[in-house]
Amino acid sequence: MDKRIEMSRRGFLGAAATMALAGCAAQSATSSSKDPGRSRFGLPERGEFIVRNAHVLTMDPKLGEIRGGDIHVRDGAIIAVGEKLSAPQAEIVRADGMIALPGFVETHWHLWGAVARNMAGATEDTGYFYISRLLGQFFTPEDNARGVRLALAEAISSGITTVTNWSHNLLAPEYADAEIKVHREVGSRARFAYGYSRKTPPDATLPLADVERVQKQWFSDPKDKLLTLGIAPRGPETNAIEIARKEWAFAREHGLPITTHMGTSMERVQKRQGIQALAKAGLLGPDLVLVHVTNHSPADLKLLAETKTPVSLSPYTELRTGFGITPVGSFLRAGVPVSLSVDTTILCGNADMFAIMKAMQNLENGLQKSEFGIAPQRVLEMATIDGARALGLGDHIGSLTPGKRADLLLVRTDDVNMLPLTIPTNMIVQSAQPSNIAAVVVDGRFLKRDGRLTTIDVPQLARDCAETIERARKEASKEGAGKGINQLFTR
Ligand SMILES: [Zn+2]
Repeated sequence: MDKRIEMSRRGFLGAAATMALAGCAAQSATSSSKDPGRSRFGLPERGEFIVRNAHVLTMDPKLGEIRGGDIHVRDGAIIAVGEKLSAPQAEIVRADGMIALPGFVETHWHLWGAVARNMAGATEDTGYFYISRLLGQFFTPEDNARGVRLALAEAISSGITTVTNWSHNLLAPEYADAEIKVHREVGSRARFAYGYSRKTPPDATLPLADVERVQKQWFSDPKDKLLTLGIAPRGPETNAIEIARKEWAFAREHGLPITTHMGTSMERVQKRQGIQALAKAGLLGPDLVLVHVTNHSPADLKLLAETKTPVSLSPYTELRTGFGITPVGSFLRAGVPVSLSVDTTILCGNADMFAIMKAMQNLENGLQKSEFGIAPQRVLEMATIDGARALGLGDHIGSLTPGKRADLLLVRTDDVNMLPLTIPTNMIVQSAQPSNIAAVVVDGRFLKRDGRLTTIDVPQLARDCAETIERARKEASKEGAGKGINQLFTR
């Protein structure tokens, strides 16, 4: 075995422990009783460090893979990537035997629902759409915030450094504020996509005045790429195209990207012709992410490719809800940009980007009846650089390129499911799981280190989430009495 990639966790963990002492470990692990959901951990310092001696999958076509590679990070930026880097003042983070890669970029996730994990039943009157609607109406702003915090905790644990908070339970302006506060507090990268709620009347626009308020209040610095704002309207498969025109015009005037659901059934596609309607109105484009699109016509694909409109695919929820077998190859062959997503853990159970990547590879090979349908490298691009591009952040994140922000993962290869070290890209797509992640860095800050989250009080989070779901299910149980709902809500 090459000495440079010899297994050694101790070196890394030693350095990590030292850094933890310097950073957040001195903070109290308990929360104030006045504000129980709020973490008092604080954000760790960005500092300067060199990740030393990893197998680096840069996802940068010029840099490629670097065996025994180093990554020099200062003040949140990647300064250099190469071999035997030197910076006398930098802390050394040993990564012997680990794979380093860019953090995963996720493009569609209803974070608020994380506290209702697995609550969707197997019958029509207990299914996802009914349950999420029923429960959501009893959520307070703090309940939404808890969902966001839980989802972010899981995202960071799974190496997802950028999420898209596809926020569609915003029952009043305070809900948006509560969710955004959690993003600021946790410190991972996010697109906050301001959506509708179950209270938004049919054929109404999003509350655009409040989107404007949120932009002024929370997103006044256009250079800040850690937390960015977008909108998540219902779109032309639900609303009249005139509504979409107003929302898109607002978004484009305000420099906000857009995301909407599309093509969840062939019946809808035929009836609403959503993509055709967007095309005719001039509303497609690279600033729009269309979610699912599992059902579409060949003409739809052509339009998406011509306008460089990306799609967001969430294979586990698309399968689970019967939206269809995620047709990833159809998009790739047509030249449509593809990114990956979680959608909702109410349906998919967990937020495991490794599993999502593996599903993408295997679904496509299965569909093509070929062992060679899609390569792991291509799938890893979807989970990193292509996700970044879909969010308009391709110049800032998505690859380990000097000048970009430092969002990266260190993955151990000495756990039993990763032995022995063979082809790192294949190992990441086919063998790795979240428990193999030793460290997660976002914008130069260690948000997971030594297997531990640094900005989230997990025991407190567990108590908060249990309290929220217990209360919401009791209230929903009264509301849903006689609809077969009680079987899910009684213990
Ligand atoms: Zn969705």
